[in-house]
Amino acid sequence: MLALTHVIVTLLVIQLLMLDRNEAFIALTFGVFIDLDHLLGLGTYAKANGIAPLMDMDTLMNPGGQWKSMLHSPMALAMVAPISYVVRMAIPVLFWGVHVSMDYLEESFLGHFSNLEAMLGALAAIALVTMRYSKYVESFSFSDIRTYLKMEVSSVRAHLRLDPQAAF
Ligand SMILES: [Zn+2]
Repeated sequence: MLALTHVIVTLLVIQLLMLDRNEAFIALTFGVFIDLDHLLGLGTYAKANGIAPLMDMDTLMNPGGQWKSMLHSPMALAMVAPISYVVRMAIPVLFWGVHVSMDYLEESFLGHFSNLEAMLGALAAIALVTMRYSKYVESFSFSDIRTYLKMEVSSVRAHLRLDPQAAF
């Protein structure tokens, strides 16, 4: 799936489970950043097939997923599960599972870059914003959408600067 869809769905699950900042970081690692293995796989694929197929959109979108490496196979569970055990939380396995299930859903039913995938992403985004907004209204008993959006923007900016003061 598109990285953006993974980011939105992962943030939604983080919100649902009310994870703290450190847990959210682990969740993002297993829910989103495991796609970095596409880049590793891309190198292997280019070595075997040359660079030309990489310029071809059809080859790139081939659902065969040639360059998804081990992190996307069931074998990865043998690696993710012990990590979960060591850190004593279910977060790595849970978010890895969400990621792999989304990729499976895309390959088997939705199709790459399909409207259905875009719809899924949009629905997840709406759910995420609705949840965060209602939480905001609850804690400030104040429902001005502009102030809410300003708060979200400054929170994202704080995160990008990795401001330790910022609350998730
Ligand atoms: Zn993936």
